[in-house]
Amino acid sequence: MDTIQEENLRVIIIGGGIAGLTLANCLDRTSIDYVVLEKHREITANIGAAIALQPNGARILDQLGIYNRLRKDLYDINSYHTGFPNGSSFNSFTWAWFKASLGYPISTISRKKLLEHLYQSLKDTSNVHTGAKAVNIRASSVPGQNVIVKTADGREFTGDLIIGADGVHSMVRSEMWKVAESREPGSTAEEQERMKIDYICLVGSSKPKKTILGPHEIVNRVYTGVTFLIVPDVDGTIYWFVNVKLDRTIIPPSTPPGHSSSEIQAQVEALLDYHIWGDARFRDLWSTATNIASVPLAEGLLRAWSNGRIACIGDCAFKLTPNLGQGANISMECAADIANACVTLLRLPSGKGKPTSKDIEDTLGQCTGLLAKRLQAVDRMSQFTTRLQSFDSFKHWIICRYVLKYLVLPAYYSNKREMAAAVTLNYIPLPERARVALERDGRFGAKSMGALIFLFGLLASLIGALHVFR
Ligand SMILES: Cc1cc2nc3c(=O)[nH]c(=O)nc-3n(C[C@H](O)[C@H](O)[C@H](O)COP(=O)(O)OP(=O)(O)OC[C@H]3O[C@@H](n4cnc5c(N)ncnc54)[C@H](O)[C@@H]3O)c2cc1C
Repeated sequence: MDTIQEENLRVIIIGGGIAGLTLANCLDRTSIDYVVLEKHREITANIGAAIALQPNGARILDQLGIYNRLRKDLYDINSYHTGFPNGSSFNSFTWAWFKASLGYPISTISRKKLLEHLYQSLKDTSNVHTGAKAVNIRASSVPGQNVIVKTADGREFTGDLIIGADGVHSMVRSEMWKVAESREPGSTAEEQERMKIDYICLVGSSKPKKTILGPHEIVNRVYTGVTFLIVPDVDGTIYWFVNVKLDRTIIPPSTPPGHSSSEIQAQVEALLDYHIWGDARFRDLWSTATNIASVPLAEGLLRAWSNGRIACIGDCAFKLTPNLGQGANISMECAADIANACVTLLRLPSGKGKPTSKDIEDTLGQCTGLLAKRLQAVDRMSQFTTRLQSFDSFKHWIICRYVLKYLVLPAYYSNKREMAAAVTLNYIPLPERARVALERDGRFGAKSMGALIFLFGLLASLIGALHVFR
């Protein structure tokens, strides 16, 4: 068993993905002691495809001094095209404006590269234990050593609090529910059914022989029950995500069929002739595809992210589809918020020595409670966008096909406002570029923007209605 310093707060982070490694970096800039337990032997084993880095995530990475290192691996996006079955499309040109208004562009980066940067930015990588699959959490009987995590190979790690960043199939979440059930039987029944699977996503990367995308653009091609998201990377790789609607809703831990290579092949064959962009069809991407996977897309948001000394962040607490490109960014916000809460614990007036169990429970509860509340709107928006972009019903078809193009400007102002107000580390100053942009852009008051958005919404609905009923 490893040892723990008497007076220092020690955090055990379970999961070395984007949420876990961001939290490790946040704690690295404090006096708080931490370990990260990652089940894979390689920190970048979960290769994945591309991540959209948006200003809310970029600003936290900049506070941590990581953003400048990333720049060479980022590919900035200026336009987001939404295309329809008949070949028509519209362009969300406002994507190019975020750099001026918030200090950072929207960029893409391969998930592998982002994980490498997060890992290499740690002051001491020996705090990260790979090949350490957490299997069990229990309370310690030794005073000052309050929680113990056991790994599959028999190692034990002690700490004051446990942060689950172990993804959608979270073991920490299950352990947290056990604690909640022991305190209040039946209290997690609804929570356990909050995440649902309505879509699977085929994910892969290609280096097509012909040029498909123009410079600095992303394409989203919408069909009934199928959405293609085509994302470029700085090295010319094209990542693609294809959401396919299932014929029924599945509640995890059950998973939809379709993961064997023959099942993936059958799904792909049905999609090969779909147009993607210009004259390119999906078969042009498929012919050079590698790293292919079929992933069930869980969606949903827990209401209670913590119990006692355990809290969950990232994909184990909320799950978005790739459509908004916010999953990784909000995971970084969660990590920053938990780090802020840990620093608060150190500064409590009662903070002579270790914080009490009550201090920890109250501080984690308050922090995650606010996060869960704030993310309800993001969760709703993500689920709505996912369904709009697959023409899920007549209503979704009308809005996506005829109204959305008139909402480019209000959507920009609403996103900008959300990202301007997003979580940052409150113990590290804002980087110059974020501060300058926010101060300059502060002239757009929230109230006047709200009125403008309402007017645009009204106008767009009228235009949509005219299109449909003319
Ligand atoms: C393989 C993979 C590919 C992905 N690809 C993309 C993509 O291309 N684009 C995109 O936008 N999003 C992708 N995502 C999702 C995206 O990374 C997440 O939504 C987001 O970054 C939140 O990350 P997270 O750290 O909460 O969870 P994850 O990224 O799922 O990380 C969880 C980590 O916990 C580890 N873990 C799980 N159980 C245990 C355990 N018992 N003990 C120790 N460690 C454990 C896992 O190995 C993993 O490293 C991918 C996720 C995965 C797992």
